[in-house]
Amino acid sequence: MSDLTDLYQAVILDHNKRPRNRGKPPTANRVATGDNPSCGDNCTVYLHLDAADRVDAIGFEGSGCAISQASTSLMTTQVKGKTAAEAEALFNDFKHIVTSGQPPEELSDLAAFAGVHAFPARIKCATLGWHAALEAFKQPPSA
Ligand code: ZN
Repeated sequence: MSDLTDLYQAVILDHNKRPRNRGKPPTANRVATGDNPSCGDNCTVYLHLDAADRVDAIGFEGSGCAISQASTSLMTTQVKGKTAAEAEALFNDFKHIVTSGQPPEELSDLAAFAGVHAFPARIKCATLGWHAALEAFKQPPSA
């Protein structure tokens, strides 16, 4: 189990050090923001959907603790290529992982955040970017 814990920590450290999809993609036309005042985290998520309503571009900006930044970075890699319904299903899996500490049956990088369940105050940090992304799906596209 400790090997697995090391692996999970490596995923979080890696996303924190080298965030994926940072910045606003040039084609993005949907945006939503989220903030978590109890920790001081904030994030803005940008999306562009293709003709089939799948995310073909996603990016984020923001600042905050390592958990919030790593989780938002990982979220962008998971949500790319997904529809709103698929992203919501992924978020439900992720929420289950961070609130229960139970890794999913299928091994996934999302399980890296299972340890968060021991720190309930950090659950908001881990879900901040996901909430913003799901909100961005619901925004009308802007030119
Ligand atoms: Zn935080």
